[in-house]
Amino acid sequence: MTGTRAGAVADGTGSGERAPLLSVENLTVRYRLGRGLTGRARTRTAVRDVSFTIPGGRTLGLVGESGSGKSSIGRAILRLAPVSEGRVLFDGADTAGFGRRTPLSFNRDVQVVFQDPMSSLNPRQTVETTIGQALTRHRALSARDRDREVTHALDRVGLASYHADRYPHELSGGQRQRVAIARALAPRPRLIVCDEPVSALDVSTQSQVINLLMELQRELGVSYLFIAHDLEVVRHMSDEIGVLHLGRLVESGPAEQVYRTPAHAYTRTLLAATLVADPVRQAVRTAHRRALGATTPAPGATPGTSPRIGDPA
Ligand code: ADP
Ligand code: MG
Repeated sequence: MTGTRAGAVADGTGSGERAPLLSVENLTVRYRLGRGLTGRARTRTAVRDVSFTIPGGRTLGLVGESGSGKSSIGRAILRLAPVSEGRVLFDGADTAGFGRRTPLSFNRDVQVVFQDPMSSLNPRQTVETTIGQALTRHRALSARDRDREVTHALDRVGLASYHADRYPHELSGGQRQRVAIARALAPRPRLIVCDEPVSALDVSTQSQVINLLMELQRELGVSYLFIAHDLEVVRHMSDEIGVLHLGRLVESGPAEQVYRTPAHAYTRTLLAATLVADPVRQAVRTAHRRALGATTPAPGATPGTSPRIGDPA
């Protein structure tokens, strides 16, 4: 991990080593692309030699522009992308050892929230059905307990009980993401992979959802791998930040350190590309941009219209 100041996410408790909940060790993700004209099997390496750990109850923010391999890392942890080299250990167990049949405990312990709840939620199911199914997938519940728990799950993510009867299209983007979070929390997971969960939301809704995730972490002790293309977004909720560039982790360390004193030129570019309200910080970024020879408009010049690194096309 060239340019990485801290190889692993620190324990942070000051009370010695705690075994990490998740350990990603020298992960390489390679996709098969089928055969080319020469008949040789082709591959694409999306992630190269990436290592990090996440202790229980902590958040690792993973940032990088579109195509840098963020989702591939999330998917490899969820066993949806190949672990071509290296290892993924959850609670000390190598997930490669699971073979084809993923243990029920892993399916319960590791959940995911995707960027676009409109496509991750079933459009023909009410909120009650969606959350109810997630609740009963791993636990036997009477109809009455199930209803009670659905109401409780909605309340926990800041939705009213009447939202239970709504369909996804009847909700706002932020409300849909709250439903997706409630569904992810229903099996009482220990880790949630959040793959750009706020990227499709407007800025004020983004901060509400981030605050909600932080509250839920304090309350429930769940860990997050929080993926975003915007360093500003992960900064507030992450204990540690890893910066991914072309499939490699180019920098990692405590969140404030990476944000305030980025060691890697790519991290400075990511920072410079973010719109900020703070004029002092903006001046610092403008200087960084000049130093890097950036050609995009200065942040804040035309709010909302400046291209940002990693913005989905
Ligand atoms: P990010 O989430 O940071 O945008 P991804 O992990 O989605 O990045 O993609 C990383 C690289 O891997 C990209 O070049 C992408 O085109 C490629 N890729 C992603 N998924 C697949 C796949 N299933 N098959 C082949 N290539 C893929
Ligand atoms: Mg992605």
